[in-house]
Amino acid sequence: MSGTNSGAPRGGIDLGGTKIQAVVVGPDHAVIGQARHPTPTEGGPEAVAAAMAAAMTEAAHQAGVETDALAGVGVGSPGDVDPKAGTVTSARNLTGWEGEFALGASLQEALGTRAHLGNDVQVATDAEFELGAGRPYRSLLGVFWGTGVGGGIVLDGRPWTGRGVAGEIGHVVVRIGGERCGCGRLGCMEAYAGRASMERRARHAHKKGAKTDLFKIMEERGRTRLMSGIWDRALRRNDPLATKLIDEAVEALGAGVASVQNVLDVEAIVVGGGLGVRLGEAFAMRIGDAMLPHLFDDLHPPAMHVAALGDLGGAIGAALLARPASVRAV
Ligand SMILES: [Zn+2]
Repeated sequence: MSGTNSGAPRGGIDLGGTKIQAVVVGPDHAVIGQARHPTPTEGGPEAVAAAMAAAMTEAAHQAGVETDALAGVGVGSPGDVDPKAGTVTSARNLTGWEGEFALGASLQEALGTRAHLGNDVQVATDAEFELGAGRPYRSLLGVFWGTGVGGGIVLDGRPWTGRGVAGEIGHVVVRIGGERCGCGRLGCMEAYAGRASMERRARHAHKKGAKTDLFKIMEERGRTRLMSGIWDRALRRNDPLATKLIDEAVEALGAGVASVQNVLDVEAIVVGGGLGVRLGEAFAMRIGDAMLPHLFDDLHPPAMHVAALGDLGGAIGAALLARPASVRAV
């Protein structure tokens, strides 16, 4: 029953396109150490794995332990994740990661403890289901509104991963023959609501003379990309281009998420991701309103929430993977 390590702290790593977030949590899931490193853009998977190990080591030291004293380390990764083999193939948004890489073995060697891999969006959804805004419910849809739009599904208390790639809600079609998506297809929800697409459209409109402070704010902050905080600031200033693009994003999310809801009929929708967390409650409600015209059962819309675990949800969710099998919820 109680394994020798069941009370030991656990590690969790959220591997993102721009940052690696590592946490160490105690048995009660409270964060007792954390570190954030930029995701290397050169050196391929080996360099990314080394940066993940460095972030995890720093978080562990902050928690007052060495990494080999952790009960295990969970990883939420983009791309095609094979938890049994410990491999990740074609991790999107990570440069030079097209092929298969044995991330689990690499981390185990660097950290001296077991590594458990999972899908980034699904572990964040599981964290909200078990520890966050989804606790009162048996079914939910996690909508992660950031660089892209990801989705995680819990049905009747269990994660639904399909054959491995369920929950790709960003590629629900909201306009036949519409804008080109990062995936190469036309009219996906992500082509209107994903931050990468919104930035592309903002740059295009700016070049054509549209009035906006988005890029001025970006430069003031010493950034090269339109991060969530920049959109937030521009909206607060009633920037016309930012307002227009965000309005279109909300419309697209309304249509796309409502279409998913028409299929799944979940009790609640939890909105997370960089933009979702940054824009908060008011925008979760706006998405709910934008869903209404497209909901088949519009008399019973799902409850709308913002991800309660915020920015750390992905890493905390990853740490759930490192629980001893005897206490892991099945
Ligand atoms: Zn797409």
